[in-house]
Amino acid sequence: MKIGFIGLGNMGGPMALNLVKAGHQLSVFDLVPASVQKLTEAGAKAFASPAEVAAQDIDMLVTMLPASAHVRSVYLGENGILSTVKKTVLLIDSSTIDPQTAREVSAAAQKQGNAMVDAPVSGGTGGAQAGTLTFMVGGSEEDFARVKPILENMGKNIVYCGGTGNGQVAKIANNMLLGISMIGTAEAMNLGVSLGMDPKILAGIINTSSGRCWSSEVYNPYPGVVETAPASREYTGGFGADLMLKDLGLATEAAKVAKAPVTLGATAQQLYQTFSNQGQGGLDFSAIIKMLQKA
Ligand code: NAD
Repeated sequence: MKIGFIGLGNMGGPMALNLVKAGHQLSVFDLVPASVQKLTEAGAKAFASPAEVAAQDIDMLVTMLPASAHVRSVYLGENGILSTVKKTVLLIDSSTIDPQTAREVSAAAQKQGNAMVDAPVSGGTGGAQAGTLTFMVGGSEEDFARVKPILENMGKNIVYCGGTGNGQVAKIANNMLLGISMIGTAEAMNLGVSLGMDPKILAGIINTSSGRCWSSEVYNPYPGVVETAPASREYTGGFGADLMLKDLGLATEAAKVAKAPVTLGATAQQLYQTFSNQGQGGLDFSAIIKMLQKA
C-alpha cells in the first residue's frame, strides 16, 4: 500500500519503520529533520508539509503527534491534511488526545468525504519497535476492517472499541487507572520498606496476594525489585511522568464533560503535577515513589 505518515518521534519513528519493513511505500513528514532522515534512509520519501504528504497518491495516512493541539493544526490548519487530501484516503490518528477533539477532527474529515478512525496505542517505545503495540480503534466497523491489516504491521492486539472517539476513551480510562495504581503501589512499597520489610519479599507477597497489579508485578517502582523495570535503571527509558500527567489531564477533562466523578484520578493528576513542578517530569512515571521517600 501507499501510506502517508506524519509525526516520526519516539513512537511514530519505529512504527513507520515497521510499515516500510512490511513492504509499504511511505510518504513522510516531521518537523525534526533527523527523524525524517531515519525514514528516508530506510526507503521512505520525505515531503515539506502535512498538506504535501496528503496530496500524494496514497491509500491511508497515519498521524502520531504529541497532543490535541498538534492534531488540530496538522489536520485542520493552513497547509494541513484536509486542505489537500483525496476523498479515497482513509485517515488514522494514533496520537493520544481527548475524545472530544478526536470526534471533532473526524467529523471535519467525514464532512469532506474522508473516512477516519482514532487508533491510540499502548505498549510504549519497546512495543513500537517490536511491532507488538495494542491499538484501540474508534470508528465504523467497516473502516476498522480496512485499517486492521495495516495496524497488524505495527501491533499485535488490534481492538475495536466502538464509534469515533472510543479508542481515545479506552486509552485514557486505562492510563488513569495506571497512574492511580502506580501511586498506590509506590505508597504500599514505601510503607512496607519504611517499617522494615525487604522490598523484594514485600513485592513477592503483594504479587501473590490481592494487592497484585501491573504496577507491582511488571513495573515495580522500587529499585531492584524488577530488573527490567525503569526503577532498576534510575527511572530512564520508560513512559515519562509528563506524558502520564498529560493523560491524567485528558481523563479529568473528559470526566467533566461526562459528569463522571474521578476523585482518585484527579488526585493522581495533582501528584504528578507536583512531581513535574519539581523538575522530574522527564523521569519514568514510576519515579513518583521518590516524592514519598525520606531524604
Ligand atoms: P514524540 O514527542 O517523541 O513525537 C512526536 C513527533 O511529532 C515529534 O517527532 C515531533 O517533531 C512531531 N510533530 C509535532 N508537531 C508536528 C507537526 N506540526 N507536524 C509534523 N510533526 C510534528 O512523542 P511520542 O512519544 O512519539 O508520542 C506520540 C503520541 O503517542 C503522544 O500522543 C503520546 O501520548 C502517545 N504515546 C506515547 C507512548 C510512549 O511511551 N512514548 C506510549 C503510548 C502512547
